[in-house]
Amino acid sequence: MNGFSSKAIHGALLKKDVHGALRFPLYDNAAFEVGNSRDLELALEGKKPGHAYSRITNPTVEDFEQRVRLLSNAFGVVAVSSGMAAITETTMALAETGSNIITSPFLFGNTVSLFETTFARWGLEVRHADMTEASSLESVIDGRTRFIFLEVITNPQLQIADVSRIADIAAGHNVPVVLDGTLTTPYLFRSRDAGVAVEIISSTKYMSGGATSIGGVIIDNGIFDWQKTPALFVEAEKVGPGALIMRLCREIHRNVGSCLSPHNAWLQSLGLETLSLRIDKSSANAMAVAHFLKTQKRVLTVNYPGLKSSRYHDIANRQFNGKFSGLLTFELNSKDECFRFMDNLVMIRRATNINDNKSLILHPASTIFVDYPAPQREQMQVNERLLRLSVGIEDLEDIITDIQQGLDKL
Ligand SMILES: *Cc1c(COP(=O)(O)O)cnc(C)c1O
Repeated sequence: MNGFSSKAIHGALLKKDVHGALRFPLYDNAAFEVGNSRDLELALEGKKPGHAYSRITNPTVEDFEQRVRLLSNAFGVVAVSSGMAAITETTMALAETGSNIITSPFLFGNTVSLFETTFARWGLEVRHADMTEASSLESVIDGRTRFIFLEVITNPQLQIADVSRIADIAAGHNVPVVLDGTLTTPYLFRSRDAGVAVEIISSTKYMSGGATSIGGVIIDNGIFDWQKTPALFVEAEKVGPGALIMRLCREIHRNVGSCLSPHNAWLQSLGLETLSLRIDKSSANAMAVAHFLKTQKRVLTVNYPGLKSSRYHDIANRQFNGKFSGLLTFELNSKDECFRFMDNLVMIRRATNINDNKSLILHPASTIFVDYPAPQREQMQVNERLLRLSVGIEDLEDIITDIQQGLDKL
């Protein structure tokens, strides 16, 4: 069983259900009786498989983690309550007060705020580099750099870095790369092969199966020697490659309490089963919509890595398995025109999410970037004319008809 979809559907076959249920059951409960007193002690020490309390481990959550591990060919996976929890826990595990991380200003808004407000208050220094010019890392990396953090496709700029080059430079300094792979998932991008140490994903998006629930995963690809980073040196000497997963499970994840609810894990395991179908369909739809938008007089620019005109087409083509995901942006003539176009739409919904089954549209400048002053927004390449469309898996003809009538009415 080697194919992505077969593995996604059949999972990791952890245990046979007592009733022979073909879908791993939902254990929607808090506590478990492990056996006798000694068994409970061993379970809590992590020395014996078994579940004691769902904040720490849960069978349905474990089934989801093992499916993600199988699909990403990783060493270990910890599922958490949201994408933000995944970034928070990873940062807490790898960095400390007085250390620094290197990232780019082009990040998901809450991630910027987490690093530059929340963690800054705890004494973490955040440095910037241009991830599309990997050599720019050299001048900011130093002995106190704990990791390099980037997003696989930035949103809404749709910048794409050469991840292998960044990982090579980082490896030369014994620094791990942490990648936010939400927009690609292991179906489009094999982060392990590119040298990424840890991939975090907001499973709320593509993985959840259609915006069913909030969740996140931390994927340790198992290719970084944790003895090389001061953050995990002591654990790595003791337990070897399991150092990060051990730090998360036996300390941070347990203590922070941002566990994934078993109910959400169950929904997201179901989402994994159709992940490849949905990414294939939304990628094909997005490609066709991008080509259609290019033919429209009122549309000033179209940005989609699948278009040959995109600066990132070649690297995206090389990295992402020939597909480019469902996210694109385009410009109309003014904010007013953007608003009128959005309000003309009948099927496409106005919402902030991405990678839903439904096509969703948003005006970034007046929503996710509303707190930024205009000059800073321009620096972030978000102007008032820009619209972001997350193309769903509806019938292509209906998506195009809706856009066409929305433009015609302007
Ligand atoms: C949505 C998103 C997040 C945050 O995930 P939540 O599940 O909403 O906490 C992080 N990174 C990217 C790229 C996202 O799209």
